[in-house]
Amino acid sequence: MSKVLEVCESDNTLMATRRLIKNAVERLELPPVVYDYLSVPMRFVEVAIPVEMDNGATEVFTGYRCQHNNVLGPYKGGIRYHHEVTTDSIKALSMWMTLKCALVGVPFGGAKGAVVCDPLKMSVKEKERLSRAYIRALASVLGPETDIPAPDVFTDAQVMAWMADEYSKIKQVPSFGVVTGKPLAVGGCVGRKEATGRGCFYVAREAARAINLPFNQARIAIQGSGNVGGSAARLFAEEGCTVVAISDISGGVYNPNGLDVSALLEHVQKTGFIKGFAGGETITNQDLFNLDCDILLPAAIENQITCDNAGNIKAKIVVEGANGPTTPDGDRILKEKGVLVVPDILANSGGVTVSYFEWVQNNYGFRWDLATVNKRLEDKMVEAFRLVYCFTEDNCDGLDMRTGAYMFAIQRLAEAMEYRGWL
Ligand code: NAD
Repeated sequence: MSKVLEVCESDNTLMATRRLIKNAVERLELPPVVYDYLSVPMRFVEVAIPVEMDNGATEVFTGYRCQHNNVLGPYKGGIRYHHEVTTDSIKALSMWMTLKCALVGVPFGGAKGAVVCDPLKMSVKEKERLSRAYIRALASVLGPETDIPAPDVFTDAQVMAWMADEYSKIKQVPSFGVVTGKPLAVGGCVGRKEATGRGCFYVAREAARAINLPFNQARIAIQGSGNVGGSAARLFAEEGCTVVAISDISGGVYNPNGLDVSALLEHVQKTGFIKGFAGGETITNQDLFNLDCDILLPAAIENQITCDNAGNIKAKIVVEGANGPTTPDGDRILKEKGVLVVPDILANSGGVTVSYFEWVQNNYGFRWDLATVNKRLEDKMVEAFRLVYCFTEDNCDGLDMRTGAYMFAIQRLAEAMEYRGWL
């Protein structure tokens, strides 16, 4: 295994994830082969995706699908359109999916996909051609019982609809269960769009309870105003919490008396960005991490809380809405400061939970109402938080919920491996 680690030495995120897995396997006194299974993907596919651009020229994009582990069920994980995607970051993201599904108790394995592109510079038609071409290139390894993609950064319900349509054409049968996060009109699930942010809201509430922080008086700062950050912001505001700051790729806005979250999200919907919103003082993404607040929700991209800014964080709770927002150095500093970090594999598992609900409904040709979806999501998130929090208290010397979450998930994965005869 050391050979694999050497190759990836440049990628902090993947190496850090492997270290966390190894630490959990050792603490649980599991056979080392459990680490060997979980430290490399079962399959990694790289494809060339030729797309005709609006100017008539053909551009060849690179696409990936990483199928990490399917001991618990079909592979599951989002597809990301981003110019900064690397093979190692996709591998790490797929590992987190495996751990997340195990943790929250949904019968899926872990996967992740991506296309290296700048979607902000592409037209709608170019994005449609890219999304369809991605599915054509990977259809042989995807399927409702094999591997089920979903939205991630800069992909949305419309992208999923194009993908479901293309896959159905290839198979010559409506096969919408191949992806989740679809629009309602083509087999989507009510509440899926908001599910990850809603899940973050539930675990933030549980975390506040755990440290006796009055939740409805909490001051919240959020990085990211997209699917996760925006949905969570709305729920925090509805609960009576004070959302003091939100940022996105264009910068941020701060109002110590509380932002008008609905007006801000309307502005983002209209203009695409927070920039130009008049309801507060303009700040940078870095300023956001220094603000006086009780709960910090990084809900944008990886590696945002680092050794450079973790020391300045004043929040008592960090809820990792994004995948991998905290570097190992940043994490160590937060631990030393006694900040309760709700780790990504727990905090943002609401998305895959409702994706699972969508897949179940597609398989049964049945539709649940919003109250049912939200109640089932709340039950799952509250249960997962409490199980991991108690497990951490009992096994991990206090507040490090990341170690606890990894151990808890890997214990479940190892049990399935054992029963399936993999060990
Ligand atoms: P999104 O595309 O809807 O929103 C992303 C937000 O991050 C946008 O506001 C964007 O402007 C901002 N952003 C991007 N780059 C940035 C940068 N360099 N600095 C500051 N802000 C930046 O994506 P999303 O679905 O909300 O996903 C956000 C995070 O949550 C990602 O890490 C994703 O992997 C994770 N996540 C999403 C889901 C889901 O269901 N959508 C589920 C689990 C985890």
